[in-house]
Amino acid sequence: MSIFTKIINGEIPSYKVAENDQFYAFLDINPNAKGHTLVVPKKEVNKLFDLDEETYNELMSFSRRIAIAIEKVIPCERIGMSVIGLEVPHVHVHLIPLQKMEDIQFIKKVTLHPSEFEALAKAISEKL
Ligand code: AMP
Repeated sequence: MSIFTKIINGEIPSYKVAENDQFYAFLDINPNAKGHTLVVPKKEVNKLFDLDEETYNELMSFSRRIAIAIEKVIPCERIGMSVIGLEVPHVHVHLIPLQKMEDIQFIKKVTLHPSEFEALAKAISEKL
């Protein structure tokens, strides 16, 4: 079972942004930028392009809704999207508020207090 399945099942805590019957969105615990969010299909599939086409399309559509909400909360140039998955073998879309190119590169991290994570997750969820 992946760490993200444990998060979806509530066995590991997360700063939840949104959820429906197919997807779960929560803040990345080691964010590139404030508001960095992960969107995960509840179905545990390792690689993005192994998702069935319908789930893939719905993941993109759900991620779009979350990105629009993040952009309302975090002042940024735009929301970047990245799918990597080399650490956690369970599909997840990274949505990252970008100010500059490095913000998408997973080299510079920001440290946030739990109260900041909580406030961010709440603020984004309220813009959905
Ligand atoms: P990657 O598989 O390379 O796309 O990276 C996995 C991402 O998941 C990283 O950005 C981690 O910071 C993030 N991550 C790992 N564990 C957790 C967790 N328990 N809660 C939130 N984010 C996590």
